[in-house]
Formats: sequence, C-alpha cells, structure tokens
Amino acid sequence: MSYFEGPPLSWHHLLEVLPDGIAYVDEHGVICHANERLEVLTGYARDELVGQAVEMLVPSRYRGSHAAQSGKFAGVLDAGALGTGSGLTLLRRDGLEIAIEAAIAPLILDGKPWTVVAIRDDSAQIAAAKVRAEVELHAVASELASAEALANSEQRFRLAFENNMAGMIFVDLEDRILAVNDAFCQMAGRDRQEIIGKDSAPFTHPEDRGITEEAHRRLTSGEADQVSYTKRYLKNDGRVIDVEVSKSPARDATGRTSYFVTSVRDITQERALSAQLSHQALHDRLTGLANRVLFEDRLSQAHGRAVRQGGWGAVLLLDLDDFNGVNDTFGHLVGDQLLVAVARRFEEVARSSDTLCRFGGDEFLYLAEGLTSPAQAEEAAEGLLGVLAEPFFLVGGHLEQHASIGVVVFDGTSTDCSGLIQAADAALYEAKRQGKGRHVLFTPAMRQQAVSRFALVQELGYSLQSGEISMHYQPIVDLITSEVVGFEALMRWQHPERGQVPPDVFIPLAEQSDLIFELGSRALRDAVTEARSWEGAGARWSWPFVTVNLSARQFHDPDLVSMIERTLTASGLEPQRLLLEITESVALVDVVGTTSVIERLNRLGVAIALDDFGTGYSSLSYLALLRPQIIKIDRSFVSPSKASTRNDTLLEAIVSLGQKLDMTVLAEGIETPGQLQQLRHLGCELGQGYLFSPAVPAPEVATMLDRRSRRRGQRPVLPTTADSHLAGKGREHFGHGDAAHRIC
Ligand code: C2E
Ligand code: MG
Ligand code: MG
Repeated sequence: MSYFEGPPLSWHHLLEVLPDGIAYVDEHGVICHANERLEVLTGYARDELVGQAVEMLVPSRYRGSHAAQSGKFAGVLDAGALGTGSGLTLLRRDGLEIAIEAAIAPLILDGKPWTVVAIRDDSAQIAAAKVRAEVELHAVASELASAEALANSEQRFRLAFENNMAGMIFVDLEDRILAVNDAFCQMAGRDRQEIIGKDSAPFTHPEDRGITEEAHRRLTSGEADQVSYTKRYLKNDGRVIDVEVSKSPARDATGRTSYFVTSVRDITQERALSAQLSHQALHDRLTGLANRVLFEDRLSQAHGRAVRQGGWGAVLLLDLDDFNGVNDTFGHLVGDQLLVAVARRFEEVARSSDTLCRFGGDEFLYLAEGLTSPAQAEEAAEGLLGVLAEPFFLVGGHLEQHASIGVVVFDGTSTDCSGLIQAADAALYEAKRQGKGRHVLFTPAMRQQAVSRFALVQELGYSLQSGEISMHYQPIVDLITSEVVGFEALMRWQHPERGQVPPDVFIPLAEQSDLIFELGSRALRDAVTEARSWEGAGARWSWPFVTVNLSARQFHDPDLVSMIERTLTASGLEPQRLLLEITESVALVDVVGTTSVIERLNRLGVAIALDDFGTGYSSLSYLALLRPQIIKIDRSFVSPSKASTRNDTLLEAIVSLGQKLDMTVLAEGIETPGQLQQLRHLGCELGQGYLFSPAVPAPEVATMLDRRSRRRGQRPVLPTTADSHLAGKGREHFGHGDAAHRIC
C-alpha cells in the first residue's frame, strides 16, 4: 500500500499473536492491514482484504446503516477512546453470516487518522454457526433418515447440497438467498456474489415474480409442507429458461420456519422435447397433418358440441385411387412426395375450423364441423375431389391422382360417435365399387352390407372345407371353327342359405384376407387335375387348355411359381396347357416383381392371358411389360349395353393392336350371333360367352368334349351360327397345333 507502511515490527508481531481479528482501516474506510486471525474469521486471504472497503464484511442489508454509524462514531470519539458493540453481524467469504463482538478505536499514526477494529476471536461461535447450519440441514434430511444414520446422513446431505446436479438454494423468510450451490449459479448464469444476500427478483422473469411469494405464504402458513411450481428465470445473457422449483421449510425446534430449502431444475430442454414429442404423438410425420389419435379426440369434441348446441358435422374418409401403382412405378420417394402434395392441396380447401388427418397409407380423414345442412358435407367432399383435378408435377414427371370419398353426416341426436369412421369406410367401399373418383354418402343399408360382407368372409373360411366351393368351366372357342379349344376355370360358391354367391362378391373379400391364397391354390389344383382328365378326348395336339384366374395378391405370393410347378407335377398336366389370367392391377402392385414372375412362368412353359383388357389402364406400357400371350377383351366392349360407333372403333383398335403385337385376341362375353359376326369380321381369333355356353360343372365338360371327339373333323361342336368357310383359318391356328405355339 503506498499510503501505509504498516505498524512497527513490534506492533506487527503483537497484532499477529492477538486472539482477536484486527483490521486497520483508513479514513476512507479501506482496510490497510489485517492480521492472521482476521483471515480465519472472515475466510478471506489477507491480500483479498487489504485495499477493500470494510463494508465487504458487512451483510448488504446493514451496509447503509453501517456507513452512517461509522461516520457518527468517528465524529464523537477522541483519539485513544474505545467503542464496543455486540450482536453485530459479519459476512464471511463463503456467504455465512456470523455474530461478532467488535471493539473500535480511533488512532493517529504518523499524523494520519486510523480506526483499529478488533473483532472478538470467537472460534466457538463460528463453529456453532456452522454446526447450526448443518444441524438445520440435517433436520431436513433427518425426516428421511433413521436416528442411527443421522451422522452419516448429515454428511451425505451436505455433499448432496454442494454436488447436487440440481441447483439448490437456501432462502430466508424475506426471500433473501443465504446459500447456493454451483449448479444453481451455473443455471442462473450468475456468480455466487451476485446471488448471495439478494432476493430472486433480478433473475426471475417479470411475469413470474408473484409465484415465489405465494409459495412462501403457503409454506409458512402451514397450508403445505412442500410446494412445487414452475417459473421462468432470466439469465444474465438475456436468455429465458424454464425451471421447476421444489421448496420445503426448514423449521427450528419450536416448529417455526427458519428458512426454505429450495431445489431448482432446468426443464427448458425437457419442455421443448415434450412439446416436440406431443406434436409427434398427435401428427403424421410425413405430411404434418393430424394423426388418428388427434382426429378421434377432435371428433369426440365435435360430436359433444353437436349434442349440446345442435348443428351438423361430417366425417369424410378419403382413399387415393390406385395409389400403389405410383409407389411401385416411381418408387416410395415419389409416392411420399405425392402424399405430401395431396395433403397440401387438401389444406387449400380445408376450413380452419375443420380437421384434416392422415389416417395411414393413402387414406385421409376430414372432419367438417358446424355444418348447417348435410348437403354441405357433400360440398366439402366435392371440394376435396376438385383439388385433385389438376395433375401433380413431381420428380418423376406429372401424375394424375384421384380419390374416392365415403361421407357420413352426424348430428347431436346420436349418442355415440365411435362408429362414424366405420360408417365412412362402408360408404368409401361403395364409392370404390361404383367406379372410384367420386364421393358416396353413407346410408344405414351400407352398414348392413358391411356387416354382411364381414359375415360372408367368416363363412367363406368354412366353405372350403364343407365342399360348397367348386370349379366350373366355360368353353373357349375358336371363332373360325367354333371348336372348343380351352376352358376358363371359374369358381362357384353354393351357399346353403344364400344360394349362389357370385365370385365378383367373394373373391374381392377373400383378397382382403389370406383366404385368397387357399382359394387360389384350390382353383389351380382342381383346374389342372380336371384338364388332365380331358386328355382322352381327341388327338394330343388338340387337347384343350385351361385358364385359371389369379388375383394380384396371389400373383405376388413369393411361393406362387413353385406352387404352380408342384401342382403341375402332381397332376401330370403339361405346363403348355395351362394359362394364367391376370389383370393389369398385378403390375400396379410391383412392376419389377411382376416381370420376373412372368419370366419364370414362361420358362416353365405356362402362358399369361391379360384379362378384362380395356377396363383398367389399358396402357401400352403395361402390355409391353406383361407381354401376355392372350389379350382378353372385356365383355363391356364385346356386348355393350348400347351399341356405339366409338365402341366399335375401340374393339377394332384392340383386335388390330393384338395382331400387330403378335398376341392372340380373345373376346369375352359373346352373347349374340351379331357380336360373333362382328368379331370374326375383325379377325378376332378366340371367344367365350353365353352364345356358346356359360361355365358348366366339371362332369358336363367331359360330355362336351365327348361330343367334340365324335364329330371331330366334320362340324363345329357347339351350336353356333359360325360360317363354315372361315373354318380353315381357325384350324390353321389350333387344329394343327400352330395355335398352341402362338398361345403358349
Ligand atoms: P372374369 O375372369 O372376367 O370371368 C368372366 C366372367 O364373365 C365370368 O363371371 C363369366 O361367367 C362371365 N361371363 C362369361 N360369358 C358371359 C356372357 O356372355 N355374358 C355375361 N354377362 N357374362 C359372361 P363369373 O364367373 O361370375 O366371374 C366373375 C369374375 O370373378 C371373373 O371375371 C374373375 O375375375 C373372378 N373369378 C372367378 N373365378 C375366379 C377364381 O378362381 N380366381 C380368381 N382369382 N378370380 C376368379
Ligand atoms: Mg378371367
Ligand atoms: Mg374377364
């Protein structure tokens, strides 16, 4: 210190051996010398004390009065006189406050005024203060610990305080902070000195300041023994964090609250995460739309409102038509992009009060609320279909994507809303059945149909065992010779109560479950076994072939090719006499897989007939991909409900397409001689239809073939109006085995 050299050595020595802490304070209130004892008392090193204002040892709340008093003191006392004071408080470096007794003497040394402060050496008091704090801590811990473990738990509690991952503070009844641990300082982003002795206001978010007062009130009034609450802290860099505070009172022996033990946890990230998780739990990850859980919640609220306030609501279930084709042709990435693009378009017309949800896969749900009439639900459906009118421009080019919608309207008169989605599903089924790209409003009869469809699926399982299922065979005729060259195997279900159930009804149902595999292998086994039995009829080169229908799911069964191989081997039928009928929809499921299955089947000697041609996509790319040996023209072109030139043109185009691609063309559903005439004229080679024969049970096939073998070489077997002059051409293809090469 430039202005103080310190007392003479003898004085210095004396100061060091004194039992009291001594400080020499200059006229400005700055400590210029401190003895070792003062270091022990205050916890500061000597060089931390020297040069500092004496107020550093005074708790902040007494600093104002201390300055005033020391000024008064200096003015009254003459040199040499002593003043004493007890019950004073000293603030230690570690934040602990201890009661002290101080003696103060003014002194003139080298002509300068000094104040000598002697602080009573009272190590017992310091120890007691420490013990008191520890005992108080211990009092909290002891609620949990057994009497024998008190000593250990006290130690543990102290360690737990200092090393706790959670921020911990002790605050007095006026919310002044008495002690803090490192974790708290870090969390609040402030130094210990900034915190100790202050209240929590500076680092509490202004809007949350009343929370602490209320917690203290509840604890001191005994209303609660422990309180937890969340609030926001303001860090000194301006950031706001969320904290969870847990506070309990520390009581003295009389039960009076001495201070509060508070633990504080930073829950900012936790909150952000839980907000994110709850968003994820309620939204679809791909499209960001509400998910099923959120939709069902909104639906039950909307229904509740309709019950209380009246009005109408509607659930719309949307399904994208033939969406699998997009996934399989362009890949799942493009499929996903399309789903997102569709979702965005739906959002364009969704009202803010309504809920749009991705139900899963290519299905969406729309909840329309506050409708004033059921007609508005249909308007909403048309609005949603309308936004799909324009094609989508994606990486893979531009894509057309349409949808079907099942609509169900509800009002407050129904007590339950749990069946609404199923009802919309039943209406959606109807929309698909009616040809897709449309909406259908639910009617109670549809629920009945859905129930009866369900019952039918159950019964279908038994039907296989009970012999109700059998195969019928419809002859396929050479249109030139009118000779039977093959049979299409068609499944029949003779239900004991319902009578004949059409395959158009039960096959799509079986496709929705694994029953289709059982039905499919049954059809194949029966058909090839039956075809093998036709071999007695006629010469080997004219044994009729059999065609078996395969559904898309069956076609993509990994076991299909080996199952066919096993069945053929078991029956002994030549693979060249089996044709499999598939529709373009098989290619929609998986393009690459379809090509490879067809190649394997062809290698086996089994040919493919493309069924119902003209009704689906009828695209040249599918024809090129599937490369069927036979194209079966759908009966809607062959026997249209209304004759039209456009239809004739299409028929002609398909026949000529087949001829150009070197594929055999077969016309389905020939019902009249006129139709036969027309087809012959166009050069269509094969046909089937009621004009020749409906599908007949197996025993009748034998009779039909017997007749053929008896008349072979003379007249056509079936009663037709076939022109005999065309007979030669037919024979060229089938009678001499050439057709077998062209077909298979
Ligand atoms: P499909 O393969 O196109 O079969 C032709 C359908 O047209 C058959 O109906 C047949 O009886 C009918 N039909 C034949 N000639 C005429 C005609 O001149 N006029 C009219 N109006 N109809 C005619 P069916 O037997 O009811 O079969 C319907 C559909 O059920 C079949 O259409 C086929 O897709 C499916 N199906 C039938 N059996 C099986 C099977 O074993 N497996 C699979 N996966 N599907 C089958
Ligand atoms: Mg067919
Ligand atoms: Mg067909």
